[in-house]
Amino acid sequence: MQDRQANHIIIIGGGLAGLVSAIHLSRFGLPVTLFEKNAYPRHKVCGEYISNEVLPYLQYLDADPLSIGAKRINRFLLSTTRGKISEARLPLGGFGVSRYTLDHFLAQKAIQQGCRIIQDTVTDIHFENDTFRVSAKDSGVHEARITIGSFGKRSNLDIRLDRSFIRNKSPFVAVKTHLQGGFPEDLVALHNFEGGYCGVSQVENGNLNVCFMANYKTFQQYKNIDSFRREVMYKNPHLEAVFENSVPVFEQPLTISQISFSDKTRVEDHMLLCGDAAGMIHPLCGNGMAMAIHSAKIASELIIGYSSGKIASRQELESLYTSQWSDTFRYRIRTGRLLQNFFGKDNIARAMMYGVTHIPGILPVIIKQTHGKPIPVPAA
Ligand SMILES: Cc1cc2nc3c(=O)[nH]c(=O)nc-3n(C[C@H](O)[C@H](O)[C@H](O)COP(=O)(O)OP(=O)(O)OC[C@H]3O[C@@H](n4cnc5c(N)ncnc54)[C@H](O)[C@@H]3O)c2cc1C
Repeated sequence: MQDRQANHIIIIGGGLAGLVSAIHLSRFGLPVTLFEKNAYPRHKVCGEYISNEVLPYLQYLDADPLSIGAKRINRFLLSTTRGKISEARLPLGGFGVSRYTLDHFLAQKAIQQGCRIIQDTVTDIHFENDTFRVSAKDSGVHEARITIGSFGKRSNLDIRLDRSFIRNKSPFVAVKTHLQGGFPEDLVALHNFEGGYCGVSQVENGNLNVCFMANYKTFQQYKNIDSFRREVMYKNPHLEAVFENSVPVFEQPLTISQISFSDKTRVEDHMLLCGDAAGMIHPLCGNGMAMAIHSAKIASELIIGYSSGKIASRQELESLYTSQWSDTFRYRIRTGRLLQNFFGKDNIARAMMYGVTHIPGILPVIIKQTHGKPIPVPAA
């Protein structure tokens, strides 16, 4: 048995939500141990475009992504399956940075702030007598007063906790690669193809992130990713140009399946859930990373309040977290779900894309509905 400090906090999962919570809580002097099953640095399937709503907060945490070369992005381009385009300025803008570099950078920042990172897989969590007992595969049982679950969209712990969404099959598959080729530095493009869409933008080293999501049923009819790309995606001439005018950086693209956008609980057996573990917005909205970072801020501030006695009980902590999470994200999750339903149905998607590309002014409205406002931070 380890970690008997009174206010000890365990964070399970070292993606954006977990790492940002670790930096924030450690900066406020709280003892934090974070478990991450994989080593840093590591590539992840992700579009790697982050809304600027989180930039002031990351700068406040002394973890400025621009310091590691993140590319500033302020233009958005949407194309239909046949290549008709519509462009808009991104009102808030964003930046492009690979998860390989960003997660590693944040992990180093967390360690500098005093957080302990253990590379191990958490296998079980048990809450009793106001204490969490967290079991990890190699390092045994650890105790904590507070536990944050930031284990992402689909984890062994979702099965262990018997969360309802895990029983539903998801129809989506996602593929990501990095390419070397010409593409404007300040642009994020969303190119549609039959049954899916593909995001393209630059990351810190000038490589292109090319990440697509497709309907699994359509996808599996093709021999491999390459034939899917040529026979389905190339019908959009912009996608053909992206692939044909570049060379792959990865030997093989990364793929994931079973991506669920179902409703999830924000607190599970007294553990506060952050990031995708609490709910995932459709990547079409390009906002999951911002939500992961923002939810980490909400949880961290409340935990600091609880540790200092300003929040009187665990029950109050949990209910404040649940309500603040919903107040902050409910609306955009709903819009994301609506868009996802439209894009799942080809006829509606086509009609919607027609509207977006023919009626000026619609695109900025949709962008606004799915993005948040800059996260307020205390004055320096
Ligand atoms: C195809 C696709 C494209 C996307 N594009 C974008 C985009 O362009 N912009 C955007 O903002 N968002 C995008 N997103 C969403 C974004 O990737 C997620 O919202 C974000 O990664 C969530 O961060 P997280 O910290 O919650 O989870 P993750 O980053 O997934 O981190 C969870 C971590 O927990 C670890 N873990 C899991 N179980 C355990 C365990 N038992 N023990 C220890 N560690 C464990 C995992 O190894 C992982 O590192 C996209 C998502 C997809 C699927």
